[in-house]
Amino acid sequence: SMAPPALLMRVVASAYSVAEKAATIVRNVMAAGDLGIVEKTGANDLQTKADRLVQMSICASLARKFPKVTIIGEEELPTDEVTEDLIEDGHCEEILKKTCPAQYTGIKEEELVIWVDPLDGTKEYTEGLLDHVTVLIGIAYGGKAIAGVINQPYYNYEAGADAVLGRTIWGVLGIGAFGFQLTEAPAGKHIIVTTRSHSSTLVNDCISALNPDSVIRVGGAGNKIIQLIEGKASAYVFASAGCKKWDTCAPEAILHAVGGKITDIHGNSFQYNKEVKHMNSAGVLATLRNYDYYASRIPNTVKQSLVP
Ligand code: AMP
Ligand code: MG
Ligand code: MG
Repeated sequence: SMAPPALLMRVVASAYSVAEKAATIVRNVMAAGDLGIVEKTGANDLQTKADRLVQMSICASLARKFPKVTIIGEEELPTDEVTEDLIEDGHCEEILKKTCPAQYTGIKEEELVIWVDPLDGTKEYTEGLLDHVTVLIGIAYGGKAIAGVINQPYYNYEAGADAVLGRTIWGVLGIGAFGFQLTEAPAGKHIIVTTRSHSSTLVNDCISALNPDSVIRVGGAGNKIIQLIEGKASAYVFASAGCKKWDTCAPEAILHAVGGKITDIHGNSFQYNKEVKHMNSAGVLATLRNYDYYASRIPNTVKQSLVP
């Protein structure tokens, strides 16, 4: 008889269904019309009712199934008032059928850290740029992002009534990434994707130094990794602090699963152990291909301004 599925595969399969429930909550809050916006550190750092409900839904659902896993979510909330309607206990059967890579079959619950961004691209969500929004569940082991789920609740929302609304992308290192069509950016073109609502002189100076053919300004770290893996952009460049570990964990796992690379602006890889500092203080540089081209052109003046 077949061995029972490895813990990692059970966690990813559950995270897939939990992210789909999250997407339903994100759409329902918007449809109900009362976003309940709260400023966290300022007007460019917002939290809505959707951020709060999804945080509770994801963290409580995963904690119930995997009580010894460390779960770190973006939003600070009391954990005692989660209502039963927010709990998802399903899983994706297709993921459970995949073979767990040998190096991950022995992982125990205590060794996993799950980084949750309940709603990435909140500023854009409040402004109606709905397809910028993603739900991010990243899974780390030994300090490395090894698996992730990105749900895009409003994928296809402008494609007409016949199109299926929303999608779930998932990936595991050593298995690959699924739920989208892997596409390379146009050869010989330098298309940079960067922040839309957290720009600065340094962010823009860094992009100018790369001599881009074009610049795409969109919200969300998850959304920008989708731009890379679908060939819309050749590099994600963000020469600023502001992005956190829950923004990069799931995107990193999916990008690495298809052969891409993400680091800070100095080329240092990100760490995802539970004790790590949340802020990615030295920015983000990510590509599907040709990482070295971009890394070698980041100006020293930019690097000196961003302390890891
Ligand atoms: P963006 O590309 O601006 O959507 O940023 C990607 C992620 O990093 C989002 O979750 C943002 O909320 C977060 N982020 C980036 N810069 C800042 C900032 N200055 N303040 C707060 N959050 C930020
Ligand atoms: Mg975010
Ligand atoms: Mg968020």
